[in-house]
Amino acid sequence: MIIAIDGPAGSGKSTVARRAALQLGFHYLDTGAMYRALTVAALARGIAPGDAAALEDLARTMPLRFGYADGDPLPSKVFIGDVDVTETIRKPEVDRQVSEVSAHPAVREAMVDQQRSVAQSDSYVIEGRDIGTVVFPAAELKLFITASPEERARRRAAQNAERGLAADYDTILVAIRARDDFDSSREVAPLRPDDDALCIDTTQLSIDETVALVVDLAKETRG
Ligand code: C5P
Repeated sequence: MIIAIDGPAGSGKSTVARRAALQLGFHYLDTGAMYRALTVAALARGIAPGDAAALEDLARTMPLRFGYADGDPLPSKVFIGDVDVTETIRKPEVDRQVSEVSAHPAVREAMVDQQRSVAQSDSYVIEGRDIGTVVFPAAELKLFITASPEERARRRAAQNAERGLAADYDTILVAIRARDDFDSSREVAPLRPDDDALCIDTTQLSIDETVALVVDLAKETRG
């Protein structure tokens, strides 16, 4: 069974997807981390975010893998070869460039191929922007998780403060709006709920409530 979870930046979808996967005993794939890792690799090699051919080549050849942190049953670390980029992929310069990097059709094709091959067997919770619309259009359960931009910026600021990253609310709100606009208006695989996706607005919901809802929906769907 595939549970596709899409939604904008800071909607809480990563936390919800991880916790729902844990409770259901499903595998978990964070496709945003893949586009972020590609952006880190491109920055390190001096590849411009507009260079579609070089980015596609990098997307098909870079040795990207997920790893496990001590005591965490779900993958939470990201490596390119032996280099741990788990923290680097969350940096503001990556936030600024990742949308442009991931808007190229050829880059998306390379990433989608990998995402499909990872999750072709077993039960997965997969999160991203185009999982329900493009990557797994036949997913048994499709969810679109969102919240107001202000609430999303507030959550991201709190999360960044916890991680020791830049946490100014106003800056984060501007960045979140810019990324949403870019992701929603691109030609290929724009961020949007699929026609048969269930939209969950979490502005007034706690993480616990949202996770419980997702787990209930998954159990109902599985029968
Ligand atoms: O989910 P996260 O915020 O980490 O995603 C980072 C960026 O990667 C998004 O803003 C979007 O540009 C891109 N992305 C995408 N398709 C996905 C997942 C992420 O284009 N399935």
